[in-house]
Amino acid sequence: MQNCDLFVIGGGSGGARAARLAAEAGAAVVLAENRQLGGTCVNVGCVPKKLFVYAADFSEAAADARAFGWTAARPGAMEWPVLRENKNREIARLNGVYKGNLEKAGVEVVQAAARISRPNSVVADDREYRAKKILVAVGAKPVRLGIPGAEVGAVSDDMFHLESLPRRAVVVGGGYIALEFAGILAGLGVETTLCFRADLPLRGFDHDLRRIAAGEVAKRGVRIQAGAAPARAEESGGEKILSLVNGETLAADLILFATGRRPALDDVGLENAEVSPDQRGFLRADESFCVGGKGGSVYAVGDILPTPALTPVAIAEAAVFAARAFGGDAAARMDYANIPTAIFCRPNMASVGMTEARAQERHGEVDIHRAEFVALKDSLPGASKRTMVKLIAEKGGGRILGAHIAGANAGEIIQGIAVAVKMGATKRDLDATVGEHPTTAAEFVTLR
Ligand code: NDP
Repeated sequence: MQNCDLFVIGGGSGGARAARLAAEAGAAVVLAENRQLGGTCVNVGCVPKKLFVYAADFSEAAADARAFGWTAARPGAMEWPVLRENKNREIARLNGVYKGNLEKAGVEVVQAAARISRPNSVVADDREYRAKKILVAVGAKPVRLGIPGAEVGAVSDDMFHLESLPRRAVVVGGGYIALEFAGILAGLGVETTLCFRADLPLRGFDHDLRRIAAGEVAKRGVRIQAGAAPARAEESGGEKILSLVNGETLAADLILFATGRRPALDDVGLENAEVSPDQRGFLRADESFCVGGKGGSVYAVGDILPTPALTPVAIAEAAVFAARAFGGDAAARMDYANIPTAIFCRPNMASVGMTEARAQERHGEVDIHRAEFVALKDSLPGASKRTMVKLIAEKGGGRILGAHIAGANAGEIIQGIAVAVKMGATKRDLDATVGEHPTTAAEFVTLR
């Protein structure tokens, strides 16, 4: 039996940050992780995904190169194993950085599954730890659709270790992961169909962004099938077949179910601490991220909470948890307003603040400023690609309520705009800002 102040279950973005901050504040901290340190973000999410997006972008750059005078119109063949292994090497380096940072802060890292065995007790690697506080930070896992034969399809975790690239792929879903992987696969030369049940992808995002996303993703080689509800999947004659409710069938070498994620709480032993998830499988936390347990000793951060499932959100939640629990800062609060987000599809889509529909619901009449244009870099290759920049503001030059952008580098541009929105910038403030020329970002300060 070993005593500690904090036992963290899960070494992803949230768990690792909380462990480090608590240890730096003087707490005795043990962290258990049964897979690689870094969680979804580092191993099967943000980081390797973005490396794949960079790889996919080369095909578009090569296709456009001719218009800029380069004679080689196409790159050579895509050697998937080279990309996969180079990615694996970088991820292994990051796993090491995580471990080093935790150990430098004084956190004891246990490479094993951990389970709450009774209140204030965790068992990991056949050893019992008595902990004043337990932080659950085990994240979420992808879910396949509940249709017959869904097991023949892959989920996003599988995409990072494929033996070889498929010739044809069907991606099911219209959210972040579906759009990102459709863009990656098409860019790497895979015949890709993206099918989703709504009329447009990215439900919940601004309607102009959704419209542009469907059109622009299609221009980068993704075949889009909207209004497509899957009925069953099967393997037949060496290929995978997805049958739709309308009777149509789609054949491919790979079906990817990008149809959402759910908290990975099955093996944590929450019942032994008298903590239970809600009907949707999420834990409900108070402002200090306590989810209950004996004397309020169990805490949770990250994708197991019904808050935005984004790495920086998990990290910020972890910081608030550590500040309140170990830093003596009872006033620390998580602020979920105006969190920027980017979908790294090709081209990028990014948003901060309200959609037009939400702003109208909350504020009645609002001002809409929008520009749709051909970005300079797209002008020579044929001008068919469109970029969109949109601001939603209170009437008469008031506060910016939402900002949306679809186009190259949208993910980079939105971060700066998010600072302005967070600070309460008005449309007049943006008008008073001199733009940098020629850039897409400058559209945000020149929109009329
Ligand atoms: P999303 O919630 O973004 O998308 C899920 C998709 O699955 C939706 O298009 C949804 O359709 C569809 N779907 C769900 N159930 C069904 C069903 N029964 N039949 C047909 N379609 C269905 O989830 P993801 O898995 O893409 O991503 C999970 C989360 O991870 C994201 O919400 C995001 O927070 C995070 N993430 C962030 C990234 C980033 O920051 N760049 C990248 C990847 C993930 P419908 O819209 O019709 O409900």
